[in-house]
Amino acid sequence: MALINCPECGKEMSDSAAACPNCGCPNPNNKKAKKKIDKKIIVPVCLVVVAIICVISLVGIILNLNPANRYLSLFNARKYDEASEFYVEKIKDNAESVEKIEEKQKSEIDLIYNEFEQGKIEYKDALDGLSVYKKAM
Ligand SMILES: [Zn+2]
Repeated sequence: MALINCPECGKEMSDSAAACPNCGCPNPNNKKAKKKIDKKIIVPVCLVVVAIICVISLVGIILNLNPANRYLSLFNARKYDEASEFYVEKIKDNAESVEKIEEKQKSEIDLIYNEFEQGKIEYKDALDGLSVYKKAM
């Protein structure tokens, strides 16, 4: 805390006072300090908001525009007809997507085989589980 001279009456006042105790003139230093604090808060808040928007957009792009992910999300939602259509339209000719899907589904198919071998699921359930992969290809 320091003393400054009032810009109106010239008398000394605290630099943290809201106004001059002598004439009531608002303390210019105090206003500045408040503005500085506001800026200090607003800038990081804006950055955080922008960062969150970027992350959400990126996740959205990765999940929806990546054909392999789009296909897998349709598949996982059991929209097999739609998935199958999408596969023919957008994925068949895209080696990278085909590879990604086959890799993902191979691991899921292996999981069904393993569960069946370990007696965790019945033969019929294993067949049902595997049949959906044929349906959508
Ligand atoms: Zn004053």
